[in-house]
Amino acid sequence: MSRFLNEKYQKLDAYTPGEQPQDKSYIKLNTNESPYPPSGGVISAVNETEIKNLRLYSDPESARLKTALAKLYNTEAENIFVSNGSDDILNFAFMAYGSNGVIFPDITYGFYSVFAELHGIPTTVIPLNEDFTVNTSAFMGKNKLIVIANPNAPTGIALSLEVIEEIIKSNPDSIVLIDEAYVDFGAESCASLTEKYDNLLCVQTFSKSRSMAGARLGFAIAGKEIIADLEKIKYSTNPYNINRLTQVAGIAAVTDNDYYTENCKKIIQTREYVTKELEALGFRVLDSKANFVFAKSNKISGMALYEALKEKGALVRHFDKPRICEYNRITIGSRKEMEIFIEKVKEILGEL
Ligand code: PMP
Repeated sequence: MSRFLNEKYQKLDAYTPGEQPQDKSYIKLNTNESPYPPSGGVISAVNETEIKNLRLYSDPESARLKTALAKLYNTEAENIFVSNGSDDILNFAFMAYGSNGVIFPDITYGFYSVFAELHGIPTTVIPLNEDFTVNTSAFMGKNKLIVIANPNAPTGIALSLEVIEEIIKSNPDSIVLIDEAYVDFGAESCASLTEKYDNLLCVQTFSKSRSMAGARLGFAIAGKEIIADLEKIKYSTNPYNINRLTQVAGIAAVTDNDYYTENCKKIIQTREYVTKELEALGFRVLDSKANFVFAKSNKISGMALYEALKEKGALVRHFDKPRICEYNRITIGSRKEMEIFIEKVKEILGEL
């Protein structure tokens, strides 16, 4: 840290992303990426012509991309916001709506507390219930920005749409942000409720179900006023925050929606396979509706399993935090990758 850094950032505890090792090749099950490549349409959209066009700025409105998303989600382009990954949208939302404080579960996506700290937002943390479900009654009738990942991360547990709607209804004077990064793997989206409630902000991403983590593309669906707020912040920071290649790739991905729906089905089937295999080996596996499972062994500690797997070339995510340090978050890869993963777990347990 230099001596010039603004005092308010000096103690900032920045987000630690999952490892992206460049040294050797792992079965990479640590950052919830898709095991499947982008669709054929995406691959041909990112072509020589578009690369040559990189000399020009991208469309700051992302008009074609918004129109494509609006059609898919049965809404209008004015109800769509797009940004450089959904992290960008979360950041903007904390900036825009955090002035009365923010409330989110204790065990959830680690970036929420970082954004709160970055923007000096007073935070209320609600412990998850003993079974790792969200304590929804604690989110009713609060006059604060409410942030809930559905399904939650790293647990994978989803809330029903009815419960989400209760939370929205009971907080008419504050924004309810539902982070649906993993919604396409079996949970119910609140996107359609945005027509009914002017305080709902539904945030999604192309990083998981649409195999585009490296392209950095997130989007939000909400009432027109909320979208206008987010646009105002975007135009006050970085108007060209989605590059040309990502814009054309995003449009093609929306066009090829059926391909991604099929991939999600495959991932759900593989998740069921992994859950059964781990349970047979004595693991407790939480009921996941995401492209990962959160699991704890009755034979080996969370940290020891993470390390042993890494040694054997499989990378999972371990959080050295109270309540969850015995667990590992395991991304669902291809069936073949997961068969190898299960073999490695068996080897490790056999060596104890
Ligand atoms: N929300 C949750 C719950 C996540 O796990 C992630 C991925 N780390 C994100 C948002 C951000 O995803 P991205 O910026 O790649 O869209």
